[in-house]
Amino acid sequence: MDTIVALGTPAGRSAIGVIRLSGPDSLGIVRSIVGDTHFKPEPSQSVLRSIRSNGSNSILDRALVTYFPAPNSYTGEDVFEISCHGSPVILRQVVDLSLGLGARLAGPGEFTLRALSNGKLDLSQAEAIRDLINAQTEAGAQQALRQLMGELSARLQGPQQKLIQTIVQLESALEFVEDDLPQLRKQHIARELADVATDLDRLASTFEVGHLLRDGLKVTFAGRPNVGKSSLFNMLLASERAIVTEVPGTTRDTLTERISLDGVPILLTDTAGVRDSTDRIESMGVERTRQAMAEADLLVVVIDGSEDLRAEDLSVLSQARSARHIVTLNKSDVPSFDLLEKSRSSFEARTISVSAVTGYGLETLRAAILEPFGSVDSSNAGFLITDARHYDLLLRARAEVQSSFDLLQGGASEELVVIGLHNGLRFLGQITGETTTEEILSEIFATFCIGK
Ligand code: GDP
Repeated sequence: MDTIVALGTPAGRSAIGVIRLSGPDSLGIVRSIVGDTHFKPEPSQSVLRSIRSNGSNSILDRALVTYFPAPNSYTGEDVFEISCHGSPVILRQVVDLSLGLGARLAGPGEFTLRALSNGKLDLSQAEAIRDLINAQTEAGAQQALRQLMGELSARLQGPQQKLIQTIVQLESALEFVEDDLPQLRKQHIARELADVATDLDRLASTFEVGHLLRDGLKVTFAGRPNVGKSSLFNMLLASERAIVTEVPGTTRDTLTERISLDGVPILLTDTAGVRDSTDRIESMGVERTRQAMAEADLLVVVIDGSEDLRAEDLSVLSQARSARHIVTLNKSDVPSFDLLEKSRSSFEARTISVSAVTGYGLETLRAAILEPFGSVDSSNAGFLITDARHYDLLLRARAEVQSSFDLLQGGASEELVVIGLHNGLRFLGQITGETTTEEILSEIFATFCIGK
């Protein structure tokens, strides 16, 4: 096994920059770097040392050096962390020094890959580390942390155990019993399989919300011009103390901002307004609006509640009908507002009265946007599947269990029934990495950052 090195902190100037080494030669390399052939600090204790450039006595930096000897380290190998001053010049020199002394530059996620190979964590935990680093909000970070603590693996253990027990029963029946399985035993196995299917369903169903927590909920404001879309959009933005960033690549026709509502990442898009147009430039804007509407997880149809409904309003409402949407009747502060308030029942979706001027209805609007996050199946105690890879494997395992169940009920031989159970077990094992191929592993780790 070779020794790898990488900068563990972001490139650029900072107070501290941490260089990480892992592998059998890391002690020797660090001894050269600190110019002390007997250097061997106490495990997990930082010591202040001068970093010396190779072959000369000139000092590059004074740095804190921490030793995590194998096997009690992140990777399970001998690991060193060198905390230098966060100067890109110094950091590059220290990395270069390590390379000159036989280390190799680490690939993306390679430290974590080594931790996985050495049984320090399972694949779902390794992925959780990546998700924790990439989390956009507190809620996203919380879910990643729960997965890192082993919650997903723990929740899979029940179904995995049941599948193994069922396989054992079916296979021993195959070996030792000449007759078919007794009816009672068959019923018991069918019940077990139904339980496994239910457990997998429950877990998989959390992905609907879980993926939104990771990727962000796309909320798009739609409506004819002048109903107050931009005003409402700005009101929601202003209600957030969280830092608001403009999403690049947006045009003047649609404007997207990323905000966090109660820890849930939201991609808020304001559209130019839906109207029929023969003007070419405007038509392009209208097309982009349609696209933003089609891609939204939730449409907020804005209607001017102080005026009568117009044909253009009805057109937006009919476009929104096929999507998840809510209706906001804006301008509730205008005296004529009551007029339309009476026609609430004519809207098919949930309707909220708001005023972008007074802020009336803001809390209700926020709650309506966050509604799906309140309806998470409590049987999983708020734990969510956030990764499409895990979701896909859960569905595949579920389908295999179902086909075995159907075969069993249809009186098929144990030999046939057991095939789906083995497949199901293999798919679940791919979530935790027990049965993951090298190819898939390298695909997953390519999404990690270098130095992790
Ligand atoms: P958009 O074209 O749909 O984005 O609408 P704007 O947000 O630009 O608003 C159109 C006009 O309506 C502006 O003059 C706003 O000041 C006004 N407006 C927006 N919301 C309200 C509201 O709640 N009450 C009142 N009285 N005026 C509003």
